Amino acid sequence: MALIVQKYGGTSVGDTERMKNVARRCLAAQKAGHDVVVVVSAMSGETNRLLKLVAQITDRPNEREQDVIVATGEQVSIGLVALAIQAQGGEAVSFLGHQVRIVTDSTFSKARIKSIDAQPIRAALAKKQIVVVAGFQGVDETGSVTTLGRGGSDTTGVALAAALNADACEIYTDVDGVYTTDPNICPAARKLDRITYEEMLELASLGAKVLQIRSVEFAMKYKVPLWVKSSFTEDPGTLVCEEDASMEDVLVRGVAYDRNEAKITVVGVPDQPGAAAKLFGALDAKHIVVDLIVQNLSRDGRTDVTFTVAKSDFAKAHEVVKLAAQEVGATGVEVDDTIAKVSIVGVGMRNHSGVAARMFQTLSQEGINIQLISTSEIKTSCVIHTKYTELAVRALHTAFGLDAPPAVTETPTVSENDALHGQKA
Ligand code: ADP
Ligand code: ASP
Ligand code: MG
Repeated sequence: MALIVQKYGGTSVGDTERMKNVARRCLAAQKAGHDVVVVVSAMSGETNRLLKLVAQITDRPNEREQDVIVATGEQVSIGLVALAIQAQGGEAVSFLGHQVRIVTDSTFSKARIKSIDAQPIRAALAKKQIVVVAGFQGVDETGSVTTLGRGGSDTTGVALAAALNADACEIYTDVDGVYTTDPNICPAARKLDRITYEEMLELASLGAKVLQIRSVEFAMKYKVPLWVKSSFTEDPGTLVCEEDASMEDVLVRGVAYDRNEAKITVVGVPDQPGAAAKLFGALDAKHIVVDLIVQNLSRDGRTDVTFTVAKSDFAKAHEVVKLAAQEVGATGVEVDDTIAKVSIVGVGMRNHSGVAARMFQTLSQEGINIQLISTSEIKTSCVIHTKYTELAVRALHTAFGLDAPPAVTETPTVSENDALHGQKA
C-alpha cells in the first residue's frame, strides 16, 4: 500500500462534471489499495476573476486583503470535490490551508511554506477517508491567510507529499506530461518520459508554467518522485527524477519562454562602489525579485544598468527605482514591458561547447534581435521583443533537434537493412 498525493489543476476541476471525474480517479486509486490525499486548485478562470474584482476596487490593493479574496477559489473546489467523492459512495473530508497548519511567512501573494502539521491528515487517512486539501493557500504566524503565488497549488501538493513522506506526487493538468516546450505554442513539441529535477527547475523558473518552481525545489530537496500527468487520459506522463548518466546525452532537453517580465534600465549610473547596492537594496526592501541584471562598460565615469522584473512587480519596481536612481545620481530611468525571454535548457550543455552560439545564430537567421543574454551551467536565455516569442521558440526547437520523433525502433542490423532493400547479404 502506498500513500499518494494527487494534485488537480484548474482545468481538471473546471466544472462539476470534471470534479466528478476527479472523484472517480481518487476513488480508483483508493480501491487499488492506496491512501489518497488530493490537492485542488480553484476552478479554471476563478483566480483571475477574483483578481479582476480586486482591480475594480483599487490598482494598489493591500496584499493581505487581496490574499483573503483570492484564496476563496480553492475553498469552493475542495468542498465540491469532497461532495463528489461522497456522492460516489466514498468517504472524504476537506481541509483549508489553516486547518492543516500550512504555516507560511507573511509575504502575501508569494508566501513560502515553513511547516505543515501532517497530523489531521494522518488521522483522516487512518479512518479511510480521502483527504481533500485546498491548494495555493496557507496561514502566517499571526493567523492571516496567505497565498503561494500563481500556480501555487503545485507547491502545496509537493510540500504535502514531502511532509507525509508520500510514495509519489502526481500533478494532473491539461497536458499529458512535460514537453520539450509548451505544446500550446509549438505543435512539434514532444512529450518527455523523464526529466531531471535540475532541468525541470530551470524550465519552471524560465517560464514553463506546467509546474511552479517552488514545487520542483521541494521535490528535489526531499526527493519526492514527481509525476506530471493528464486528468483526461491514462497516459503514464512524465517522471521528474534524479539525473542518471544516460540523461546527459541530450544536449538541449527543452525550450522555455516567459512573457511576464519587464525591463528597466537605469541610465548614467555613477561608476562608483555602492551604486548597484543602493539600487538593488531598494528593490529588495520592497520584496521585488530581480531576474537578469546587465551592467555595461563605463564611459566617462558612468554606466547603464539594465535588469528585468516580473510584470506584476513592474509598477512598484519603476517607482522604487526612480527614487533610488535620483539618490545615486543617475541621469534617468527607461522602461520596456514588450519583452520576452526565450531559453534553452539541458544538463548535456555542461559538457558541450557551441550551444549558445547556435542559439544566437538561429535567432539571427530569423531576423530576431537579442537585447540581453544570460547563461548558467545548464541554460542560455535571450531577451527579445515579445512579438517574436512563438517564432523564436519554434526555430530553437527545430535547431536543437527537438522536433524529431523519438526513436521507436533500434537501428536495423546489416542483414535486415539489406533485406529491406531487397538485397542478399
Ligand atoms: P494547471 O491549471 O493544471 O495547473 P497550468 O496552466 O498551470 O495547468 O500548466 C499547464 C500548462 O503549462 C499547459 O497547458 C501548457 O500550455 C503550459 N506549458 C508550458 N511549458 C510546458 C512544457 N514544457 N510542457 C508542458 N506544458 C507546458
Ligand atoms: N488558483 C491558483 C492560480 O490560478 C493556484 C493554482 O491553480 O495553482 O494561480
Ligand atoms: Mg498550474
